[in-house]
Amino acid sequence: MIVDAHGRRFRNLRVSLTAACNYACTYCVPDGKRLQPAQHELDGDELAYMVELIVDAAGIEKLRLTGGEPLLSPKFDEILPRLMSLGLADVSLTTNGQLIDRKAAALINSGLRRINISLDTLDPERFTAIARGGDLATVLSGMEQMRAGGLKVKVNMVPMRRRNADQILPMLEYCLERGMELRYIELMNMGHLRRGNEYLRDFISMDEILEAIGARYEFTRTDAPYDSTAVRYEIPDQGFFGIIANESEPFCSSCTRLRLSSNGFLYGCLSNSASHDVKPLLDLPRHQAMARLQGLLVRALHDKQDVSFKGEVTVMKFIGG
Ligand code: SAM
Repeated sequence: MIVDAHGRRFRNLRVSLTAACNYACTYCVPDGKRLQPAQHELDGDELAYMVELIVDAAGIEKLRLTGGEPLLSPKFDEILPRLMSLGLADVSLTTNGQLIDRKAAALINSGLRRINISLDTLDPERFTAIARGGDLATVLSGMEQMRAGGLKVKVNMVPMRRRNADQILPMLEYCLERGMELRYIELMNMGHLRRGNEYLRDFISMDEILEAIGARYEFTRTDAPYDSTAVRYEIPDQGFFGIIANESEPFCSSCTRLRLSSNGFLYGCLSNSASHDVKPLLDLPRHQAMARLQGLLVRALHDKQDVSFKGEVTVMKFIGG
């Protein structure tokens, strides 16, 4: 097993099925940009094979399918059962929920036990202003379908000062009433946010989120697994919520995440644009590919930040959020 000086190793693999997305969220892509697939994306067979190799070589325990928008990928129907059959302890999916209706049966029947659905507001107009694609009612109905199908649903929200700060409580209430766990994600200084002052203007800290919640609810901090990115809180008799506090409580020193982009690059860290091309391994016999992969994993582990997220020009939709 490859381990670094902080005792970190890769246990979680996030696989981007495509860089394409049917949203163009203000914090993810600059104005006027359309989200396209990356050049030379791996096909379903290549991607599944590469995941199998990485799982073996790195000792991956948890797998998350993401993007871009993973449900938009034509590979999705082929790759999901193949990855489910790897027998990993935990397989999950992060989606914006727009296409759940079309994929509901496949998702429910796949054996997937949990799903993260991204939603930043319950207000239809602001939804359109932030996501710049899709519609709110479709996401809400997708959540219901997943809950009715027995999947555990977590909701991801990025609170931002000028856009949805007043949604911190309504979103929590909505999730608590439906037994869904809300995850607030502190805005990350990525991509175009690193230029200009949009990030500084919009960033809402963990303390501010907790203060807003404290106006209505009593809560206590609970234990989270050592490599969890979220700080987790319990509201007695009502449920849980979490905060992914990239800035306020960085989790780099216990980060176990590895990312595989849709065009076959490994990323060891969201805050480092260094990437490692695995496509050449597709042409090698398996034992040689495994040996080369070990070398790439050492380099990817070395790319991790020691202490905190420094920000990166790379955008999340490209690496896989
Ligand atoms: N399309 C899928 C979705 O919407 O969930 C998966 C990809 S998306 C990049 C994954 C998550 O990253 C979303 O919850 C999104 O809100 C979050 N995200 C993207 N850019 C971000 C940023 N700059 N700061 C914080 N979260 C961000």
